[in-house]
Amino acid sequence: MVVIHSISLPPGQYGSHQVESFFLSQLDHSAHPYFNNLKDTKVSSHFYIKRGGELIQFVSCDERAWHAGESSFKERTQCNNFSIGIELEGLEGNAFEEPQYETLSSLCSSLTLKYPIQHFVGHQDIAPQRKKDPGEKFNWKLFQQSCGCPEKYFLNRFD
Ligand SMILES: [Zn+2]
Repeated sequence: MVVIHSISLPPGQYGSHQVESFFLSQLDHSAHPYFNNLKDTKVSSHFYIKRGGELIQFVSCDERAWHAGESSFKERTQCNNFSIGIELEGLEGNAFEEPQYETLSSLCSSLTLKYPIQHFVGHQDIAPQRKKDPGEKFNWKLFQQSCGCPEKYFLNRFD
C-alpha cells in the first residue's frame, strides 16, 4: 500500500529545507516556535515531493519508515509495516501543484512495477481520528488518471 501525506514546516510555509531536516532528525528546534512541538517526534518517510516536483528519497522502499503512526487499514494495524509513505510539501486544506502530481504519478507507476501495491490511501484514511492529510484539496482523480493505476486501488473514492 502507498500512503499519501502532506507536510510543511512551519505549517503552510513552503520552500525551506526544514522538512528535510526534520526527516533526518536534524531540525533546529529553536528556529521557529512551532518546532518545539516536534521535539519528541521522530518521523521518516520514504519519499518527499516538494512544490516544484523535486523528489527526495529518505528511506529505501525495502525498509520500514515511520510515517503512519497509530493506524489501521482493513483490520490490519500498524500500517508502517506494510506501506510506502510519500509526503507532499503542502498543508491540508491547500491545493497541490501540478509538478507534484506529475512526480507523484510517475513515482507510483514505477513503484507498482516493483512492488505488489494494491491500495493508494491518504493518511486521513488510516488514522481518521488524528490526521487530516493530505486533505480535501488533494485531487485523487487527477492522481489516478495520471499514474494509470486501476480505480479499484483507490478505496471507493470514485463510486
Ligand atoms: Zn501524514
